[in-house]
Amino acid sequence: MKYDVIIIGTGLGGLLCGYTLSKHGYKVALFEQHHQLGGCLQVFKRNGYTFDTGMHYLGGLGEGEILHKLFTYFDILKDVELRKLDENRFEKITLGGKEYGYAMGYENFIEQLSQYFPKEREGIRNYIQEIQRIAHASPLYNLQEINQTTFIESDFIKKSVGSFIASFTDDPVLQNILAATNTLYAGYPDKTPVYVHALTLHSYISSAWRLVDGSHTIIESLAKSIENNGGVIYKNCKIEKIICNHTEAVSVLTKWGEQFEAKQFISNIHPANTVDLIESHLIRNAYRTRIQNMENTASNMTIYLGFKPNSVPYLNYNHYHFEGDSVWYAQDYKLPEWPKSFLYMMQAREGDGPFANSAQISSYLSFDEVKKWEHTTVGKRGEDYIEFKEGKAEKMIQLLQQHYPEIKENIAYYNISTPLTYRDYTGTKNGSLFGIQRDCNFPVQTLVSQRTKIPNLFLTGQNINSHGFLGVSIGSIITCAEFLGVNTIMNDIQKSSE
Ligand SMILES: Cc1cc2nc3c(=O)[nH]c(=O)nc-3n(C[C@H](O)[C@H](O)[C@H](O)COP(=O)(O)OP(=O)(O)OC[C@H]3O[C@@H](n4cnc5c(N)ncnc54)[C@H](O)[C@@H]3O)c2cc1C
Repeated sequence: MKYDVIIIGTGLGGLLCGYTLSKHGYKVALFEQHHQLGGCLQVFKRNGYTFDTGMHYLGGLGEGEILHKLFTYFDILKDVELRKLDENRFEKITLGGKEYGYAMGYENFIEQLSQYFPKEREGIRNYIQEIQRIAHASPLYNLQEINQTTFIESDFIKKSVGSFIASFTDDPVLQNILAATNTLYAGYPDKTPVYVHALTLHSYISSAWRLVDGSHTIIESLAKSIENNGGVIYKNCKIEKIICNHTEAVSVLTKWGEQFEAKQFISNIHPANTVDLIESHLIRNAYRTRIQNMENTASNMTIYLGFKPNSVPYLNYNHYHFEGDSVWYAQDYKLPEWPKSFLYMMQAREGDGPFANSAQISSYLSFDEVKKWEHTTVGKRGEDYIEFKEGKAEKMIQLLQQHYPEIKENIAYYNISTPLTYRDYTGTKNGSLFGIQRDCNFPVQTLVSQRTKIPNLFLTGQNINSHGFLGVSIGSIITCAEFLGVNTIMNDIQKSSE
């Protein structure tokens, strides 16, 4: 059997491409190395608690907003239950002993933030106007017909988020507060291009939502649609080679030694891992080396907390905390100062009353700290690894307790993930959270095209375009445009929301 398109990996990008192409009549086959689909969208269950791993909240899901249109197009909306975060404070930020908040809706955001910084109202307004301008400048991010080849203006790629924010205010505290959610893209003030910051902020300020009962509902919905469209999904089927003839890719080889042929191929795995699967001369050494040496975003450690019944109040916002007086560089720490920051989020569960069932707290953790266990696998890393994790967890929970004094006594269960966990569940080098680190100083060198040096092999997922639900969805459109033409997809998306 020869498929039209083989897709390697069932992360969000793979599933979305599988959906779009199968809907257009392509006979697709998806291959996933694990028994669970979804990559970062996986959830896991322990001791009666269900935890999300890599999709905690989404922006722009209000009616008429971008993710609402995309959820409608991908036919996901009917299968998910959403809970809107607090409109007047969906992000709580603690810095320098003080508390600040982000509100939803642009006027509301300006109004609420100006209460903390009354003299800076004008600067905040100008900042917000520019965020909106950037968000509206990309036809791709506004799901419009595209008659040009540039998807994002080059100024927004070449300018750093730090200098962008500093151009609106001299107040160092406000500068920090405006950058406080940089954990969402593991950013650096002098490296991260402003479009990454602006597009992320824009979607969450528009509206921010939690997925009730977890992100696996998205995976199940997409997988079902793909199968209904005639697609096939192979689980527990790691691809070990992409086999090429002298002009193009012809088949993939699984770890079970089976070969599957297709006319076209899409890789949803990290580009560095993709080139590792290819021995062909079609991939020149210069390309291979460039892709393999690209810097990746940092990784983290997460503690998944299960609470005693009716003990911990449900917080309908996320909490970003920073030790010291800067929200930046928390990923670059000296051991005694760890953790320099945390992000604390509750999980939304059906039937939640005033109390939460579970939550998670995460902080950057360098791969170097777990390197000595790099040759081990999940569940078999040894007692010293468990001790290491417990020591770290103790520190993080202590810090959390300073903000929520009753928390420790109400934890009934917890589970800890490290960069090794992410590496082993998603296959990303060193457990990087969001893949390749974009750098506005080297914009071309840190962007990866959906096209590869093999004419019938394309890339998708968070490493092309951007990460997160929105970034990966737009990335999947860019990839599928190679098959269908971008405006066919744009028109379909618009029609599906009419
Ligand atoms: C901790 C964390 C929190 C996040 N929170 C949010 C959030 O709140 N909101 C948001 O929008 N985004 C969030 N993100 C980002 C978002 O989850 C990711 O950008 C997105 O899910 C990545 O999708 P992807 O398509 O690149 O695939 P990935 O999730 O990287 O999946 C790749 C898949 O390929 C499989 N694979 C790898 N190698 C092979 C092989 N050789 N053969 C077969 N299969 C293979 C893997 O097992 C995996 O299933 C978060 C990410 C992390 C890590």
